[in-house]
Amino acid sequence: MSENKNILKDKFGREHAYLRISLTERCNLRCTYCMPANGVPLSPKSHLMTYEEVYEIAKTFVDHGVTKIRLTGGEPLVRKDIPVILEKLASLPVELSITSNGVIIDRFIDVLKANNIKKINVSLDSLSKDKFTHITRRNEFEKVYNNILLLVKEGFKVKVNAVLIKGFNDDEIIDFIEFTKELPISIRFIEFMPFDGNKWDLSKMVSYKEVIEKANHHFNKNMIERLIDSPNDTSKNYKVKGYLGSFAIISSVTNPFCDSCNRLRLTANGQLKNCLFSATESDLLTNLRAGKPIEPIIQKAVKAKFKVRGGMNTLEKLQQPDLHTKNRSMITIGG
Ligand code: SAM
Ligand code: SF4
Repeated sequence: MSENKNILKDKFGREHAYLRISLTERCNLRCTYCMPANGVPLSPKSHLMTYEEVYEIAKTFVDHGVTKIRLTGGEPLVRKDIPVILEKLASLPVELSITSNGVIIDRFIDVLKANNIKKINVSLDSLSKDKFTHITRRNEFEKVYNNILLLVKEGFKVKVNAVLIKGFNDDEIIDFIEFTKELPISIRFIEFMPFDGNKWDLSKMVSYKEVIEKANHHFNKNMIERLIDSPNDTSKNYKVKGYLGSFAIISSVTNPFCDSCNRLRLTANGQLKNCLFSATESDLLTNLRAGKPIEPIIQKAVKAKFKVRGGMNTLEKLQQPDLHTKNRSMITIGG
């Protein structure tokens, strides 16, 4: 670690060891909760980080204590130079992982293995083909479903992310849990969160409490086991006794886990976000290109981090559109 220690420690004592890097603003799906129907304005290519710049910035974070990097997007696998990016980042002393929509991941099994990627998160919001097509605005259900099975077969540790939306897929909670009976995966139910252009409102969100009530009601409470969450885990983990897999809830809306937050986010155009919900960004890329040190900017951004959800510390604040429309659309943050 370099001499300038603790640049990743914020004023609440949280040390940030986990960096999520968005590699692209593009995607081969169009999920309604993630992006507006008519897309988002894309950054010109010259404004996006090259693979060398991704590496340079990532290395600075690793030199200051980051031990985990997760690649995301948009869809990270649509980036043409993804094999080179993986190879460069795999040379750093970090646990490297990826979040993907799974549509084309079967083409990358060897590359992922060669770069020591063991943990993969795949998004799948419905087990019904029609509903999947509706929510993603694309007809790719079979590919994603089969690729989840393939990843498990190939020995990856797979988590499946499902954003729950009331009246749309909340009737599938039990089906998703049943999916873990024979498959050693973790299904993670995510509370629908507000971002620019995703038509969020609280009444569409399915809460942590509702998921647990449904599970307890269906399986009989004694059959549901509360697992021990890993440190800094964003999810609360459970399993049905005897099932191979487990399920979890990510409750950023009703039960934020900000106290133990250890995450920072880098957007594809080189902006550091100190929180998923924060509308402020710090421009690392322009400074890197100008040959200036980026550590002071990182340090300032980390010190400016709010205690809870980018300053939206109450449900009332989260419901003020002017607060979350200042933020980006999720597709350009990376989740
Ligand atoms: N394309 C990849 C994928 O879909 O997994 C990676 C990027 S995507 C933005 C990362 C995660 O953010 C996905 O699991 C997605 O379901 C989640 N996500 C997107 N918009 C969301 C929202 N409004 N609320 C909660 N989760 C959201
Ligand atoms: Fe693409 Fe992932 Fe957003 Fe869906 S959630 S539009 S797959 S980036």
